[in-house]
Parts: sequence; structure tokens; C-alpha cells
Amino acid sequence: MKKILKTLAATAVVSLAYGGVNAADQKFISIGTGGVTGVYYPTGGAICRLVNKNRKEHGLRCSAESTGGSIYNINTVRAGELEFGVAQSDWQYHAYNGTSKFADAGKFEKLRAVFSVHPEPVTVIASDASGVNTLADVKGKRMNIGNPGSGTRGTWEVIEEALGWKRNDLKLAAEMKSAETGAAVCDGKIDAYFWLVGHPSALTQESLASCAAHLVDVEGPAIDKLVADNPFYRAATIPAGMYNNKEDIKTFGVGATFVSSADVPAETVYVVVKAVFENFDQFKKLHPAFANLKPEEMIKDSLSAPLHDGAVKYYKEKGWM
Ligand code: GLU
Repeated sequence: MKKILKTLAATAVVSLAYGGVNAADQKFISIGTGGVTGVYYPTGGAICRLVNKNRKEHGLRCSAESTGGSIYNINTVRAGELEFGVAQSDWQYHAYNGTSKFADAGKFEKLRAVFSVHPEPVTVIASDASGVNTLADVKGKRMNIGNPGSGTRGTWEVIEEALGWKRNDLKLAAEMKSAETGAAVCDGKIDAYFWLVGHPSALTQESLASCAAHLVDVEGPAIDKLVADNPFYRAATIPAGMYNNKEDIKTFGVGATFVSSADVPAETVYVVVKAVFENFDQFKKLHPAFANLKPEEMIKDSLSAPLHDGAVKYYKEKGWM
């Protein structure tokens, strides 16, 4: 008996010496992402992977959930059911300010920015058989406009209004989740799909490789006005050769951002931010859409809600603020 007690005591000393955290002290955090073939899902996965690497030291266990996308993520962070979410910068702006789709819910004043991630150009993929070559050609066609709760869907509704179109200007406005849209274009069930996503993305790659399909420019006076009038939109290109496109695709877009709530403890956000930036080279390698990320841009670009206190603490320690 004495011997067993001695061994137990020795184990306790060892785990204290290593600063270990007991299983009972583990805290769970969840990141809301998007469809499994998008870029949000692997973004959440990459962040969690780096957080979980040092789980024994800080006691946070991180998991990334596939969800409906930006607007769902913001609403679920607001409800306190997710600690973090990935969200388009346009919807971060509207949620914080209580505008557009967030007018009814009112300002989400506790929304906090953590950092921005990759750019998300508005992306339209059409089958060659559809005859769709410009945004205007989409009129009268069958297009996926995004599932409810996605940022994609919200931004389509903004574009639709800017173009002066009604929903029935599309022959079919499909509401599939992003993961279903590639097969639907290739099977001829729809003519095109619309989404906001980082590049390269698995779904875009797969659609353009598995059937006769192409990317479409998204431009014109209505788009120029949207970009001129709103700080969260900017002109963008999908570079020539990224997929099967020989030329740059001209479009506009937003930034993907990583958000949280002021109700999430600063210590938690600090641990997550530190895990990403202390392992930044590894982080950048976890998805090709991260190739051009720079910390000094990530802590300010595309962010409209205030930075979370836990993030500020780390950025100040690094001398970035
Ligand atoms: N921007 C998309 C949305 O919020 C998600 C893109 C992705 O899954 O990578 O709907």
C-alpha cells in the first residue's frame, strides 16, 4: 500500500513539474466553419490542430465543426454555442453594426475580431453547355445561390439587389450546400454555382477538373458601385492558371475572418492566437489559400469589430501593436 501511494505521489510530482493539466481541467472550444469541401472547414481544422498540439499545457481541446457558413457562425457565437467562427468580412461588419441582414437582431456589440485569413473572391462556375460567360448571362438560368445561413447566400442577395433583379430573374435559384454544387453543375442539374471562397479550393478544383466548366468574370457598373460604396468589398482577381483559366478572372470579394465574442475569456483567445502565430510557417502550409498571409495584415485588414482583448495581449507582446 505504502509503495502504491509513493508511486502515485511520484506521478503527481512529475505531472506538476511538466505543468500538465488534468483531464478534469480540460476545456472544450468549438470553431464554426462551412461545408467540408470549402476553405473554412480546413481553416478551422488548421487552427485546432495547432491549438491541440499543446493541449497538455493549456488544457484547451479544440474542434472544428462543419456548418452552414458565415451568418450561421456569427449567430451561433452570439448565442454562446460556439466560441469561435469563420465569417466573411461583409457579414462581420453588418453583424457588429446591426445593418443589412442583422438589422432585426440589432448590433452584436460583443462581436470580436481575432484575425483575418485568406481573401474570398466572388466566384461563379458555369458549365460550358450553359452559355454563361458573364454575370449578366446568369439571368434566366439555373444557379445555386447558397444555402440559408451562408455568407455566400447573403452576398448573393446584396448583388441581386444591386443588379435590380428579382429572385425570379433566375429560372431556378437553388439553395444547395456548397459540397453538393459541383456534382449538380457537372450533372447538368444547374447551369452555374455562385460562392465566396478562398482559392485554390477543393470544390472549385474538382468541378473544373471533372467536367466542361469555367470561371466567369463578375464585373460591371453595379459591381463597381458596390465596391466604391462599401469598405468591406474590394476588387479581386482569380489569377490566370489557378485552375483551368488562361486569363485572370476579374471579380470582387471580401476577406475571410476569424471571430469570437467578448464573453469568451481573454486567456482562451490568447492561447488560440498564440498557437497560430508561434507556428505560423506550419499554419501557412496547412492550406494553399494561406500562401500569401502576413501577420501584420491579418491583425488589421478586413476587420470591423474590435479586436478581442486576448488577441490584443498577444499582438502587443509581439510588438505588432
Ligand atoms: N464564404 C462562405 C460562406 O460564408 C464559405 C466558404 C468556405 O466554406 O470556405 O458561406
